[in-house]
Amino acid sequence: MEGTTGEKINPSPIERRRELKQAMSSLANAGTHCGSCSGVCCTFLANSMQITPVEAVDLREWLISQNRWNEDLLLSLKTCVKRFRLDQELGDGRRSLRRTYTCPFYLDGPQGCSISRDHKPYGCLAFNPRIPDQTEGGNCCSDQKQLEIRDQNFPTEATQNEHLRQIHHLPYAKAPLPIILLDLEKSSRLDP
Ligand code: SF4
Ligand code: SF4
Repeated sequence: MEGTTGEKINPSPIERRRELKQAMSSLANAGTHCGSCSGVCCTFLANSMQITPVEAVDLREWLISQNRWNEDLLLSLKTCVKRFRLDQELGDGRRSLRRTYTCPFYLDGPQGCSISRDHKPYGCLAFNPRIPDQTEGGNCCSDQKQLEIRDQNFPTEATQNEHLRQIHHLPYAKAPLPIILLDLEKSSRLDP
C-alpha cells in the first residue's frame, strides 16, 4: 500500500486536539467517563459524525503510519457507505439531514474507538457523558463551546480546509468519515 501523502498541516494534529483532550480528561478525573459504556454513540443508533478535510487528512496519515491503510480498511469503508447509504441524500428537498452509521473504527464492546485521541475527529473528543457509569449512553452531549474555542484558536484551519477541498476535489465542507476517507484515497490515486 502507498506511503503517506506528505500533507503536513500545522499546527500538528496533537496541538489542535490538546484542549479538547484536556477537557475530556478533566471530566474523566471527576469520574465522568465512558469506561462502562457499550459506545452506543459510535453506532448507527446515534452516530452521524461528519469531519472536515483537515481532520480526514489527520486520520488518514495516522492510519497509514499504523499500517492500517490497506485494502481491508478500504473495503470496510465501502461496505459502511453501502450499508448506511451514506452517498445518498436524505431530506425533504428543502433541508438535508444527516444519515446515521456505525463508525468503521468502532470496536464492539468495551474497547470502543480504535483511533488515537491525538487523531480522532474533534466532534468525537467533544462528545462526552454528563453523568458517570452509563452503560448505554442516554445522557451525553457535545461540548459546543469547547469546539468553538478550538476553532477560534486555530484561525488558519479554514484556509487549510479550503485548500484541501480544492486539491482533492471535495464537493463538501464536511462528510461522514467513510465518504471523505474514500474520496482522499480516490484523489491520491489520480495524482501523478
Ligand atoms: S472515530 Fe472513534 S469515537 Fe469517533 S465515531 Fe468513530 S469509533 Fe466513535
Ligand atoms: S457514555 Fe455517552 S459519550 Fe460515552 S461512549 Fe457511552 S454514549 Fe458515548
